[in-house]
Order: sequence, then C-alpha cells, then structure tokens
Amino acid sequence: MTGETPMRRNRCAKILATLGPATSTEGTLEALIRAGADIVRLNFSHGSFEDHRRRYDLVRSVERKLNRPIGVLMDLQGPKLRVGSFVGGKIKLETGNHFQLDMDPELGTLERVRLPHPEIFRAVSVGTDLLLDDGRLRLRVESIAENVLITRVIVGGVLSDKKGLNVPNAVLPISALTEKDRRDLVFGLDLGVDWVALSFVQRPEDVEEARTLIGGRAGIISKLEKPSAIEHLNEIIDLSDAIMVARGDLGVEVPPERVPILQKRVLQACQQAGKPVVVATQMLESMVQAPTPTRAEASDVATAIYDGADAVMLSAETAVGQFPVEAVAIMDKIIQQVENDDYYQRLRDNRRETPEGTAADAIAAAASQVAQTIGAAVIVAYTSSGSTPLRVARQRPSVPILCLTARQRIARRMAIVWGIHSTVVGRDISSFSEMVEMATDRVLTEGFADIGERIVVTAGVPFGTSGTTNTLRIAWVEGKDGPWAE
Ligand code: PGA
Ligand code: MN
Repeated sequence: MTGETPMRRNRCAKILATLGPATSTEGTLEALIRAGADIVRLNFSHGSFEDHRRRYDLVRSVERKLNRPIGVLMDLQGPKLRVGSFVGGKIKLETGNHFQLDMDPELGTLERVRLPHPEIFRAVSVGTDLLLDDGRLRLRVESIAENVLITRVIVGGVLSDKKGLNVPNAVLPISALTEKDRRDLVFGLDLGVDWVALSFVQRPEDVEEARTLIGGRAGIISKLEKPSAIEHLNEIIDLSDAIMVARGDLGVEVPPERVPILQKRVLQACQQAGKPVVVATQMLESMVQAPTPTRAEASDVATAIYDGADAVMLSAETAVGQFPVEAVAIMDKIIQQVENDDYYQRLRDNRRETPEGTAADAIAAAASQVAQTIGAAVIVAYTSSGSTPLRVARQRPSVPILCLTARQRIARRMAIVWGIHSTVVGRDISSFSEMVEMATDRVLTEGFADIGERIVVTAGVPFGTSGTTNTLRIAWVEGKDGPWAE
C-alpha cells in the first residue's frame, strides 16, 4: 500500500460502523475512518448492489489513501419474517379481538393478513406468541388449521404493510440463508468482503451450511438474535470465526431485561474461546438526531468495553444519522477513557484466560507475559492465517499487538479484533535476522515503538508456513541501520 504515514489508534477495542445514505461520499468515509471506524458494515437488508459496490470501492480508496487496512463486513438479511400488505396500507389492531394470518395473497383487512412463510404454520402451536413490528404488537395463537392461524390480539396497535414478525420460542425449520442471501453472498464475495454476518442463526448447522458456501473467502460472524442460538451457544461459537450480540432483534425475541445478562454471558464465552465478539445496536441511538449521546448510552458503550468486547457497533447512527462522524468520535473517546481506567486494567489482568495446551497458545501467553515483565512497547506477531495474533489477543496483553502478514485479506480481517493493528509486508520472512529487521522497521513506521525500546516478536519456523508458531524473540529497536537481538 502507498499513501500517508499509517494511522494508529490509541485503544484496543474496535469500532464497527454501518454504512448507508449518511456515509456514502468519499469525504464522509474518510472522516469516519479518521475519527475511529476500524471496520465497516454493508447492510444487505437495505440498498441495491450498486449502492454496496459504490461504498465498497470508496472504502478501498480511503484505505489506500490512509495506508491502513480496513475491514468490510457484509451483513446478510437472513430469514426475517414479514406480513403482507393491507388495503389502505395499514390497520389498527384492537386488543382482545381475533386476527387471522394465512397464505391468501389478497390484501389484508381488519380481520386477516397474508403471512407468506409456510414453515411457520407448522412450527407454531396453540399458545405461541407472535411479535410484530419490533415487538410492539403481540398476537397469541388460539387455533391452527391448514395454513391458517387464528390469533388473539394481546397487545394491539397500528400494523402497516410488510412489518417484521418474530416467533421467539419456536425453532423454525428454515435455513439461515434465504434465496436472496445466496445471491447477495455471491455478489459480496466477488466484491471482496472480509467478513460475512449471518442473521437469525438458530442452530450450529446454519453456520456449517454457510461455511460450505463461503469456504475460506471471508470470516463468518454469527449474529445471536434468537433464543435457540443461545441454547447452542458454545457449538455456534466453535463453528464461527466471530460472534455478534445482535441486541436489536434479540431484545424482541427475549424480554429486554434478559439482554444485559445474555450479553455478559456471550462475551465471556467468546473470550474463553478466543473468538472476537461485537456488541451491536442502539449503542448511541439518540445520536441519529443529536450531536451528543445520552448518559445511559455512554455508559452502555463503556460497559461493553469493561466486559471485554472486541468491537462495538454503530447502526442507524452512521447509516442514516445526522451525526455519523461525531458518533464514531464519541465512541472512540469513551473506549479510550475506559481502557485508561485502573479498574478496567485490573479486570483485564485478573480474568486473563488460561492458555490451551498448544504451541501457539504457549507462545501467545509467553509473549504477553514477557512483554509485561520487561516493559516492551509492543508484541509483533507474524502470521499467514491470522491465528497467532488472535491467540495473542485472547491473552489480552497490556501492550498493543502489531500483526505482520504478507496477505492483505488477513490484515483486513484482523480489523475487528481487540488490540490488533495490522500491516501488510511485501513477502514472508525467511530468516531470524530478517524477522527482527522487518519487525523493528515496521514498529517504527507504524508508530508503535521508539528507538531504544524493546519489542517481543513471535513467528513460526519454518518461516512462512501456516500453523507453525513456535518462536519468541526479544529485540531492541535500534533504528533502521543496526537492529540486534538480545
Ligand atoms: P440488524 O442486526 O441491524 O441487521 O437487525 C443487528 C440486531 O438485530 O441487533
Ligand atoms: Mn437483527
């Protein structure tokens, strides 16, 4: 990459910003990245292929200019269920009345509406609750016939065309990938996205199915927004490359008072597994219309950081809000404040995960410990697959991690991970002296150490082979002419 001096962050947790109409010009995107966005989300629930392609190209152009790998995540819509349309666009459902859902393509009335998802009629039973319009309305199934559900309105209100429908307590016999998702996926992978997010994952098989389509072309993020996914939490974490606590739909599927508890549980399970985890939705919601957040929102972002999130996400704030750059800038400030707090640092040190019995984990834990003991400026991790820096990040070291890789797509993928700053090197190293030389050169140009400081370097011998991390080296940064190793 060419361009200006690379930009480093003064924090470990990352910011994931959703792009949309409010963030579609090169100038705004550049401001967004400068303000702190590390990875961006293309939301395939909205927009055309052309919209997504244009934003993707602009992000890559800003990436070249700022000389900093930027992750791009495509978020698939998934099997979001919707009712049909009404005569006149909407109706008002009165609490206590009956309301029918069926497969009849006729426009809806006060008595009935189409529900064009045949699977549901088989998956629900008498007593099942159906939530409409982000949980604002509630229907309870009272009787079931062939493709007809008679329900009682438990919580009424206005219901307009094509509103979403959630069935919290049923596992629906539908794949997490719809026909639309499959088409979007082909398009997104072709574009070169680094991560694919799967919406409404219900079972481990949903992740496996996506994996067979995606292969190694992008990392897979499973969005936890269904109770059934929480029931299979550990298996889904194992099969995924990362996890998102998708609180928007999760808070409809489970009562809101369960969301904070699930968030903490998921964060803890992900950290133990060493899988990156994103906390998403409504983090700075009021900033869609206001230049400053509420106290509760600032506190919510801070809590996610104290609890160990790898990344926090902005949705409407950056996609359609009036203050997208301000929202990122405030998130950046909140994260820095928390990470500088003694209590945060104590929490981080006290709950450090035990290394698993592998060479990579032994090196990762040792690197973290050695860096702390000798007061090193940074841990430099050579990688071809990204797995070593991930294991180092799992140790939550007290110094930053500089990931050196010859593969640009690995550098971009790491943008979501706590503590990792990536840089692309022209080739794989081939000797110990080159390992130290390239590392010292890069820590200087990327701004992670000064001459006279010490660094810790991890790599694998034979060099350039994936899965061999077995070497830890301490080196002095001696300027570009004469680095030497201890
Ligand atoms: P969405 O996912 O914005 O795609 O719905 C996030 C969430 O549900 O929280
Ligand atoms: Mn969602």
